[in-house]
Amino acid sequence: MDSAEKKKLYDVAVAGLGPAGLSALVYLLEAHLNVIAVGPEVGGQINNTPEITNWPFIPTLSGEAFQKAMLGFFENLALKFPEYLTTVTGSISSAEEATGNLYKVTAETGDGSAVFFTRALIIATGAARKNLLVPGAEELQGRGIAFCGTCDAPFFKDETVAVVGGGNTALENILTLTKYAREVVAVIVTEDFTGNPDLKQRVTNLPHVRIIRNTEVVEVIGSASVTGIRLRDLKTGRDWMEPVEGVFPSIGATVNSQPFANLVETNKFGEITVGLLGTTSSPGVWAVGDVTNLPFKQIGISTGQGITAALGAIGYVESLPLVSPCEECAEASESFREKILTKQKEEEELAYPDVSDEQFFQEILTSATDTLLMVRIEGCGDCKAARPHFFEAQAKNPSMRFITIEWEKNPEAMNWLNEQEKVRAAPTFVKIHSGVEVGRKVDMERPKEMIEALTSTEPSEPRKLG
Ligand SMILES: Cc1cc2nc3c(=O)[nH]c(=O)nc-3n(C[C@H](O)[C@H](O)[C@H](O)COP(=O)(O)OP(=O)(O)OC[C@H]3O[C@@H](n4cnc5c(N)ncnc54)[C@H](O)[C@@H]3O)c2cc1C
Repeated sequence: MDSAEKKKLYDVAVAGLGPAGLSALVYLLEAHLNVIAVGPEVGGQINNTPEITNWPFIPTLSGEAFQKAMLGFFENLALKFPEYLTTVTGSISSAEEATGNLYKVTAETGDGSAVFFTRALIIATGAARKNLLVPGAEELQGRGIAFCGTCDAPFFKDETVAVVGGGNTALENILTLTKYAREVVAVIVTEDFTGNPDLKQRVTNLPHVRIIRNTEVVEVIGSASVTGIRLRDLKTGRDWMEPVEGVFPSIGATVNSQPFANLVETNKFGEITVGLLGTTSSPGVWAVGDVTNLPFKQIGISTGQGITAALGAIGYVESLPLVSPCEECAEASESFREKILTKQKEEEELAYPDVSDEQFFQEILTSATDTLLMVRIEGCGDCKAARPHFFEAQAKNPSMRFITIEWEKNPEAMNWLNEQEKVRAAPTFVKIHSGVEVGRKVDMERPKEMIEALTSTEPSEPRKLG
C-alpha cells in the first residue's frame, strides 16, 4: 500500500489510553503503522491513584508523577510520529465488522459522532469504579459519596469519612483520606483487609482509622448531603447508624466492554475473554489490561499485555492482503481525520474560564445572568473528560455565562462551596441565577448529559445559595 492510500484508513485503532493502550501504542508507532488512538484522557485509573509502590525498578512513585510521565510519553509519541498517529479525545461507542478485513468504528467526540475504519483493533478500555447498591448511594453521589481519594479527599477536611471495601483501592483511599479527614471509618465485610500486606500494615497502624469488621453497609443516609451510613453486623445481625459526612465505596470496578459487546465474546462479568496473547473471538481484535478476563489487574500486567497485543497486531496487519479500501471507509476516515485535527487545534487554544475568589463572591453569586459553574480539580481525569462538553455547551448557549472554580486557584470559593453548599466531588456542575441554585448535576460517568440537562431544560427546585 502506498503512503497516499494508507492515509485513507487506519492500520490499527487503540481504544483507551491507560497503561495498556499507551504501551501498545509505542510498539505500533515504532513499526510505522498508521494508528488512531481514541480515549477521553491519558492515564486511565492512574489518574485516581495516589501512590504506586510496586512498579518494578522504581521504589515509590506518586500517582501524579506517574500520570505526568504517561502524558509526557504520549506527547513525545505524537511529536515523534506525527504522520503515523491520529489522536481522538473521546470514546468509542461501537465497533463492527466491515467488508475487506476491516472494522468500522464509531467514536463520540465533543464534536458529535464520527466513523472510521481500521484493519486491527486493540481494546484497552479498562474499568470504572462501582457504587454501592444500597438505598441512598446513587442519589448522594457527588454529595458525600465519592470514589477517588486523590481527587476528592480535600473536600472532607476535618470530617468523618467511611471507606467501604477491603482491597488495595480501599487501603489507598484510607491512606489518602487520613491526610485530610478527622477520622476514617473502614468498613469491611470480611475479618481482615484483603489487599497488599504492606499497605494493610500502614493502615492498621494509623491512629485515626477505625476498622469495623464483618459488617456491610445497608443504606447511605442524607438528603442534601451524606450524614451517615446504616451498617449491619454480618455475625450478629445487629444494625446501627454511624454518623459520617463522606463515603468512599472502594469495592471494585465495572469493565468498559459495552461498546464491543457485539464484536467479541465476554464472560458473565462483562470481561472480554482473551487468549494468552490477548487475541479475542474476532480475528484482528485484541483486548488487554483490566477490560479482559485475565486475573491480577495491575499496571505492569496491563503494560505487558499491551505490548504483546501490539506485536501480534503488527504481524497481523503486515500479513493482510493489500486491497484498496472501500469508498465508504475512505470518505469516512478522511473527513474524520480532518474533523479531529481541526478540533484538536481548537481545543489547544481553549483554557478553562476560572474566575477569582473575589469575582465569584461579588459577581457570580449576585448576577442575574444564568451561570453554569463547574467545580474542578487540576489533574482530575473526570474533569478533563468533561472539558469538550463544557466548551460545546458554551458555544451553543451564548447568553449563559460559563465559569470554573479550581481547588488551588480558588481556596475561599472552594471552602465555601464545600461547607455551605455541600459540593463534595469534582466535577460538579451548578447552575446559578441571582444567587439561587437552580440546578445541580454530579455524575462522573456522564458529563455530556449533565451539562446538556443544565443548559437546555427548565430549572427545578430553586434554592438560595449560602
Ligand atoms: C485507586 C487505585 C489504585 C491502584 N494502585 C495500583 C498500584 O499501586 N499498582 C498497580 O500495579 N496497579 C494499581 N491499580 C490498578 C491499575 O491502575 C490498573 O490495573 C491499570 O490502570 C489498568 O490499566 P488499563 O490500561 O487496562 O485500564 P485503565 O487504567 O482503566 O485505562 C482505560 C482507559 O480507557 C478509557 N476508556 C474507557 N472506555 C472507553 C471507550 N469506550 N473508548 C475509548 N477509551 C475508553 C478510560 O477512560 C481509561 O482512560 C490501582 C487502581 C486504582 C483504582
